[in-house]
Amino acid sequence: MKTTLKTNITIKDICEGFVYNELEGKGLFGLSGRLTIQPEYQRNYIYADGKKDVAVINSILKKYPIGLIYFVKVTDNKFEVLDGQQRITSIGRYVSGKFAIKDENGMEQYFSGIASDKQKIIMETPLLIYECEGTETEIKEWFKTINIAGVPLNNQELLNAVYSGTFVTLCKEEFSNSRNSNIQKWSMYISGSVNRQEFLECALNWVSKDNVGDYMGRHRNDKNINQIKAYFNSVIDWISAVFKDVENEMKGLEWGRLYEEYHKNAYDPNAISKKLRKLYADPYVKNRRGIFEFLLGGSTDTKLLDIRIFDEATKNSVYAKQTEAAGKKGISNCPLCAIGHDSNKSKIWKLTEMDADHVTAWSKGGATIVKNCQMLCKTHNRAKGNK
Ligand SMILES: [Zn+2]
Repeated sequence: MKTTLKTNITIKDICEGFVYNELEGKGLFGLSGRLTIQPEYQRNYIYADGKKDVAVINSILKKYPIGLIYFVKVTDNKFEVLDGQQRITSIGRYVSGKFAIKDENGMEQYFSGIASDKQKIIMETPLLIYECEGTETEIKEWFKTINIAGVPLNNQELLNAVYSGTFVTLCKEEFSNSRNSNIQKWSMYISGSVNRQEFLECALNWVSKDNVGDYMGRHRNDKNINQIKAYFNSVIDWISAVFKDVENEMKGLEWGRLYEEYHKNAYDPNAISKKLRKLYADPYVKNRRGIFEFLLGGSTDTKLLDIRIFDEATKNSVYAKQTEAAGKKGISNCPLCAIGHDSNKSKIWKLTEMDADHVTAWSKGGATIVKNCQMLCKTHNRAKGNK
C-alpha cells in the first residue's frame, strides 16, 4: 500500500464546500467537493453530544494534536475519509454554525461569535492526513488495524468498506434503511439491527450460500440488486407461508440453508401449525429452535429437539430394581438380553455398561419418567434407538 503524508491541508481547505445532512446525521462532503466525508459504509455521525464535538474544537484552539486522519484515494482528485470522519464532521459543523462552545467566561459561542484571532487559529490549523492507495486486501487489513483504537467495525461493515461501490449503496438503501417498512416482518425471522448491517449480512449470506466476499466482489459495480432482493424475498415468503405461527425461536435460524434444503417440498401449513403447537407445549422438548427443522424434515429427526433425558437418580433406581429382580430369576438385567439365546442371557451388566431407554418412545407419547424408563445394555439400546 502506498501512503503519502500531507501536512499542508488546513481546516479552511477541508471546510470548503462542507455539507452536513441533518436528516441523515452525516457529514457529506468537503475539500471543495473532492472529499466524501462519510462514505456509505461508514457509521453515522455520533460525536454530536456536546462533549466529543466540543472537545475536538477546544483541542484545536489549544493547538493540541487531534490525531492522524486517513483518506483513501478514489481517483486522482477524489478522496474518501477512511478514519477521521467524526473529527472532520465536528470541525465542519462548528465552522458552519451548527453548535457552540463555551468561552473562558462560560458563554456559549458559535464560530461567528468568537474573536477573529481564534477563528484564524481554527481555519489555519493544518491536519495530519495520510492519503492511501492500495488493493482491497491491503485496505481491509489496514482498516482492521486502525479500528483497534475506536469502536471496531463488525464484519459486514468491514466488507461494505472493502467492496464499496454501487452495489453496496443500493443494498444499504434496501436492507440497512430503518425507514423500510419491511423491517418489522424481517425481524420476525432475522436477529440483529439495521444500523449494524445485520439484515444486509443475512441477505448476502443467503444469496451467496455463505460466500459473501466473493459475491460482493463479483457484484461490486452492479447497477441493480434484483438478484439478492428476489432471493431474500423468496426465503422470507417461504418461511411465512409454511409457518403460520411466529415464535421468538424463529429469529436467526439458518433460514437460507433450510430454504435450500426444504423449499421444494409441499407442506400443509395448518397441519404444521398444529404439530408446532403440540411441540411447544411438550415439556420434554428442550430445544425449541430445533422444532422448525424437525417439522420441515417430516418429524423424524428427534435429535434436533434435544429431548429431555433420564436423570442419574432415575437411572440408578431403575438399574437397582432391574438388577435385583434379574438376580432372583437368574437372568440378565438387560431385558432384551434376557429373552435372547446367546451367552448374555444371564449376564448381569454393570451400570456403566447400560443406558436408559424410553419404553414407549417419546415420539409415541412416552414421558421421561421412572415408569417409562428401562435400562438396556449399550448394544441393545443402540439397536433400539436406530429403529
Ligand atoms: Zn442387552
